[in-house]
Formats: sequence, structure tokens, C-alpha cells
Amino acid sequence: MAYLTLKDINKIYPNGFHAVHNFNLDIERGEFIVFVGPSGCGKSTTLRMIAGLENISKGDFMIDGRRVNELGPREREVAMVFQSYALYPHMSVYDNMSFGLSLQGVDEDVIEEKVLATAKVLGLTDYLDRKPRELSGGQRQRVAVGRAIIRKVGIFLMDEPLSNLDAKQRVTMRSEITQIHRETGATTIYVTHDQTEAMTMADRIVVMKDGYIQQVGKPYDLYFNPVNMFVAGFIGEPPMNFIKARVKDGRFEVGSNTVILTDFADKAVADRFEGRTVVFGFRPEHAVLVGDKAPADSITLKCKVELTELLGDNTNVYVDIEGISAILKIDPHDTPEMDSEICFAVPYGHIYLFDDETEQRVELH
Ligand code: ATP
Repeated sequence: MAYLTLKDINKIYPNGFHAVHNFNLDIERGEFIVFVGPSGCGKSTTLRMIAGLENISKGDFMIDGRRVNELGPREREVAMVFQSYALYPHMSVYDNMSFGLSLQGVDEDVIEEKVLATAKVLGLTDYLDRKPRELSGGQRQRVAVGRAIIRKVGIFLMDEPLSNLDAKQRVTMRSEITQIHRETGATTIYVTHDQTEAMTMADRIVVMKDGYIQQVGKPYDLYFNPVNMFVAGFIGEPPMNFIKARVKDGRFEVGSNTVILTDFADKAVADRFEGRTVVFGFRPEHAVLVGDKAPADSITLKCKVELTELLGDNTNVYVDIEGISAILKIDPHDTPEMDSEICFAVPYGHIYLFDDETEQRVELH
């Protein structure tokens, strides 16, 4: 297990493109870190700099307190799993897993012991004689993971390792990778654009956008305390609803509904935004369908149902609040009729406000 320090890391590609800006992060021994963000945000570039596959343009990268910028991938002692499993097609599962150790000149008996033990952890014992083409996508992925963990290195790097799998296999492999991490204890960095993978697997998540870190935190913190609209919109599915509104006399309108800021925020917040535009945010799952009577400590909004999607464990209800679109996530037993007029409430404790200019979240108290 190793601890990693990334200090003011920058990547400027030879064509001049500045892909990663001042990336700062301390990773503890044995931590499971997930880099998440949309395509092109710089997560793979950062991982490749950590692996030693891409040079670091500026900044310091340290493993266990030692600067390793100039070391190659082998000397950094990292194991990697990529999106394409890159298994050797002509070799059996056993040989694919043992190849790296054989190259290192490890004794055949020791190799056999390690391959059998790793295959057992990954449920591959019955497939050791097969070639990769005789395996399912999930099994191939396991071989790729097995090949990496068999080396028992302190740092494990994974770049979108589940993206070639179908939805069900992804869920299975997700928990298997978490389990393997628990067993090996290796410091792990996992890259994905899938916020569900990030939320379910990470000790801490690093959310990136346009080469900049937006927020680093535990899944719970990112979900409940996003620092800005980007993180609020990226974490959570369906995404948080954002409604822009102009504040006048301490209140704003959402359709024909009036929202009084001091009902759920300090007067200083109402004063700060007087005459300005705020972004009012709430998560689809925090909306509660109600009758005409407004529940206490909530704001209640009237809307029209445009579309409902029954997903089994919940229903997504797409509503129109007089020209403003929003999504509500509700109990499937309460699914409203299409085109019906309904009221929903958002408890004060689940209201978010953002500054329209900076997109930063505004503390309500
Ligand atoms: P994805 O999820 O699509 O893999 P990512 O977040 O991993 O995206 P990177 O692959 O790190 O993104 O790329 C970050 C940015 O750097 C992108 O805009 C990409 O086009 C650019 N980039 C990547 N490799 C190079 C290169 N060799 N030369 C110039 N620009 C590059």
C-alpha cells in the first residue's frame, strides 16, 4: 500500500492543449479514489501521468513521499486495468494471468499458487484453460483484473474498466472490484464517467470538468453538499432540477407560485440576491406529491404532468411549471395521470440555491 501526493500537477500536450490544471490531491494508503467527469475533462490524462505513461508538464507527483516524476511505469510499481482488456488472444486464462510473473522470473510453483488463489477470488477456477474468445465479457474483464492484482503492487489504476460490459455485468463487477479492493487493500484510482460507479465504489470522489477539479469528497458529501451547479447536476440520477428566478422584495416566482426566501434562508441571503437572479435547485427524489394543502416547512408548486416513466422501484414524472420543466422521482404507486394538474412540495431542508453568475452554491444559513 502506498500514499500518493499530487501537487500542482499540470498537463500541457505538445500541441499546446492544457488538459489538466493545478491538480492537487493527497491520497491515503489503501484509499479507493474515483475520478469522475464528462468526456474530455482530463481524468484519463491525470491517471496516465500517475501511471508514468504520460509525462507531467508541471508539478510534483510523489509516492510514499518520494518524487517520482521521472520514473517509468515499471519502477512506479503500479498495476493497471484499461477499458480494452488487452488480453493475449492466443494464451489461456492461466497464461494471461501468469505472464507478468513469468517475465519477472518468479518460480513456477509460486506462480501456480498465485494464479490459483487469484482465480479463486475472481471465480475463474473453471476457466483457466480457456482462451479469451471462449469467455464472456465479464469473465474477460475478471482475467484483466486478475492479471493486474496478481502482482500484488501497492497501487492499482483502472480506466473505465467496466465500459465494455452490459448493465447487469457492470453491477456484478462493481461489487467484485470493491470486494477485491477490500481484500488486497491496494491504493486504488478508478476513472469513470459514470456517477453511479463513483457513488457506489469510492471512498472519495474527485469530480473534474475542463481539466479542473471541481470538488473532492465522500459520496455523501458530494450528494448533499455540492459546491457548485456542475457537481450538483453531475451527481444524482435523474439530475438535480435547476430553476432560474429573479428575486424581488425577498421573493421569486416559479410559474404562478411565489417562493419567499426567508422561509428557508437567512435574511442576509435574501438581501444579497435582491434584484438579482438565483438558481433554485431541488433533487427529483426530494419532491413529494401533495394535495392542494401545502405541508409545513416546504414550498409547494403547482404543475402539469407531461410524461411519466415507470421504472419499477420509482416513477420519473416530467412536469411543466408554466413553461419551466422539472423531473420528480416518486413512488410508482402514486404515478399521476398524464396531463393532470398536480402539486408537489420540496421540504425546506432539501432546497439548494446557487449564484447564477458564479454557479457556486449559496449557504442558506
Ligand atoms: P474520456 O472519458 O473521453 O476518456 P477524459 O476525461 O479521460 O475523457 P482525457 O483523455 O484525459 O479526457 O483528455 C482530456 C483532454 O485532453 C481532451 O480534450 C483531449 O482531447 C485532450 N487530449 C488527450 N490526449 C491528447 C493528446 N495526445 N494531444 C492533445 N490533446 C489531447
